Order: sequence, then structure tokens, then C-alpha cells
Amino acid sequence: MSSFDRLERHKRHILLKEIGGPGLAKLAGAKVTIVGAGALGGPCALYLAAAGVGQITIHDDDRVDLSNLQRQVQFTEADIGALKAETLAARLRRNNSDIQVTAIASRFHAETDLGGDVVVDGTDSFEARYAINEAAARARVRLVSGAATGWQGQLGVFAPGQPEIGPCYRCLVPEPPAQAEDCSTLGVVGAVTGMVGARMALETLRLLTGAGPDPIGWFWTFDGLTGTGRRLRIHPDPECDVCS
Ligand SMILES: [Zn+2]
Repeated sequence: MSSFDRLERHKRHILLKEIGGPGLAKLAGAKVTIVGAGALGGPCALYLAAAGVGQITIHDDDRVDLSNLQRQVQFTEADIGALKAETLAARLRRNNSDIQVTAIASRFHAETDLGGDVVVDGTDSFEARYAINEAAARARVRLVSGAATGWQGQLGVFAPGQPEIGPCYRCLVPEPPAQAEDCSTLGVVGAVTGMVGARMALETLRLLTGAGPDPIGWFWTFDGLTGTGRRLRIHPDPECDVCS
């Protein structure tokens, strides 16, 4: 892509004083891993690719199912049965040929090597969330973690393995809740998952460009039924297994 086209494509971000040309260069040089190519990871990935994040890796071993289409708006009926990671990666490449997108269609493990700047957790199980938090702690990669069930959305920004900078996911959730339920049993509003996904992209862009106050150590909740939300400060837990 010519530098003229690049300026034209990103004009609306360049106009913002918090991003501008230097922010655009930081995004182009950034590497982000997104685990979960579903309702949260999909919208997040679309916004990050459109913003020009230079290297995006999508990690998901699942295939597109008819019941996904109510909220996973990155997929179409023609994608049913296809691998989510590969389908989403192809979608991102069609949006922005200027970036490098890698699809990994296998399960994420705590031993998975994580490089880069930020990992986005868009998974829906505590097992996966703990595995991502552990891998992020080992690699010293910042973590943006989101969740949605029913009408509720939530999102936190963490610095796993770096308690001097901020908490990890396990500092917030030391043990899985006794009655952990996911959206397959509780239902979830598609638009709420989209909000969390877009918000994960927003916090990732803020981490990468340094725009606004540091989001690390903040946790937000949102109730889609009443339109209200809360913001909480999270501190590193001195007893945390991962941080200590
Ligand atoms: Zn911790």
C-alpha cells in the first residue's frame, strides 16, 4: 500500500491528537494475539485490523455453527462448518491487506508461547481464561479480558506476572465461581457481546498508543438492560499464585 493510501485509510485516526501519525506507527508495529474468534474476539479483531495493528494472531479451534450467527456477526451462513480462526483471519485480510494475520486453529494451552504486546481473551471458560493469564504472565504480555452473559458485559485490563505494574486475571478471580455458567446455558444478547468486543479493541488501542490514562488495573461492568455500568479498581493480590 502506498503511503498516500495509508494516510487516506487512517485519516480519521490521524486527526485525533491522542493517536495521530505517531500512534499509527505504533499500531503498525504492534503484535496482538486474540484468543477466541467468536462473539467477543470477532468484533475486536475487526476493529484492530481496520485500525492497522500490524500483526494479529487469531487462536481458536472451533467451527462456525448456525447458533453462532445470532451474535458472531463476522460470520455468514456460508461459513457454517468452517474453522473460525481461518474464516476470521480471511475476513481481516479482506479488510486490510497492509497487515499480517495468522490463524491458529488449535486449542490454547497455558504452555502456548505468547509474544508481542497484548493478548485479548475472548474465550468463555475459566479454564481457558486461566491458561491465557498464565501464558501472558510468562511472556510479560498485557492482557485485555472480556466476558458477556445475559444482558451483562464486563471487561478488565491486566499486567499478568508484573505486580509492580498491575494485577493479573487471577488476582481478580482466584478460583472459578462454584456455579460457573456460560452463554450456552444462560443465553446472551448479541449486541452486548459486540459492545464488549469493541471495548476490548478500544482498550487494546489505548494500551498500544498510550492514549488517555493507563487502563491497567481497571475493570468495567455494563448492564445492557438498564444501560448502567460500573468501574472498579483492581489491585495485585499478594497471595496470587501467578503473580508471586
Ligand atoms: Zn495475580
